[in-house]
Amino acid sequence: MNERIDLLDLQLPELVSLMKSMGQPGFRAKQIFKWIYKGITDFEEMENLPKTLRQLLAEKCRIGRPQILQVQRSRHDGTRKYLFQLEDGNVIESVFMQYKYGNSICVSSQAGCRMGCRFCASTREGLVRGLTPGEILSQLLAAQRDTGEEIRHIVVMGTGEPFDNYENISAFLRIVGEPEGLGLSMRNITISTCGLVPMIRRFSDDFPQVNLAVSLHGTTDEIRSSMMPVNKKYPLDVLISACRDYTKKTGRRITFEYTMVNGVNDSDEDADRLCRLLRGMLCHVNVIPLNKVKESGFDTVSRARAREFQELLESRGIPATVRRELGADIDAACGQLRLGRR
Ligand code: SAH
Repeated sequence: MNERIDLLDLQLPELVSLMKSMGQPGFRAKQIFKWIYKGITDFEEMENLPKTLRQLLAEKCRIGRPQILQVQRSRHDGTRKYLFQLEDGNVIESVFMQYKYGNSICVSSQAGCRMGCRFCASTREGLVRGLTPGEILSQLLAAQRDTGEEIRHIVVMGTGEPFDNYENISAFLRIVGEPEGLGLSMRNITISTCGLVPMIRRFSDDFPQVNLAVSLHGTTDEIRSSMMPVNKKYPLDVLISACRDYTKKTGRRITFEYTMVNGVNDSDEDADRLCRLLRGMLCHVNVIPLNKVKESGFDTVSRARAREFQELLESRGIPATVRRELGADIDAACGQLRLGRR
């Protein structure tokens, strides 16, 4: 393992402390921070630092940079799927997407995942480990370098359960929000969780401005547990009540993701139950026709059925959309990211 400190892991105040411990004035931290988030990875290019400091930094520190193993470009839209190799050899995926409002990156929060959702490819080989704040950040920086485009929106919806790596996700959010660096607005960031209730509560205290998405997918405990083992620990009533509290506390709308699976959760009764479950809550439902994952044994629904389902929700006063499918031709859609093989 690399012993040098990855500066991408550090929030600005931590970098100030590091500089002080190296006998440097605090303002150096700000200078270094600015360079890092301009995309510089070589200390020699940090022109306003004294040569001795540049040498010291090269000896003791590094700026993490994943190796790009593969880039797949969609033929239909601007989507690119990246396969990155981390320092320890683990391989993760990220997806760059272009929208009318700007560029967005879907980042992974863990190598593998232990949540066990039955329709999702990312969890098939279990959890390897949570990513460090720097490893999460470096996905964005690497995609910016590769595309030459600025990325101002982030969705934490790649491989992994972000709330199963809460401390590192928090540090990551603080770093990307730092005005001296990327200075991203928290409102441009969305975190998606499978429903770890205690963390939803904590998140509403810590980051009331970050958008929250909750993977719902089932409208009875029986259905949801058959798709998502996490439901046995945090069943629907507990989850929904945490979500209601979240919207009251933050005044922000929750996005519920609803992946439609043929014959499992796609009936009119499901739509009906969903409306009753969410009635009166500040929310929005994102209907996603299941993306195919070879081993899952689950079958998808037609886009027409997804639209009917959406209309049923809307007619009952629940705002809903059908998710646009980007990058489907390169298996870059939701639930298709998996731990790569070297
Ligand atoms: N662990 C987090 C974030 C990652 S998944 C979570 O569960 O929310 C991002 C979204 O894609 C989740 O809503 C997830 O349930 C959904 N998803 C997973 N596999 C899918 C598949 N095969 N087709 C469609 N959506 C899928």
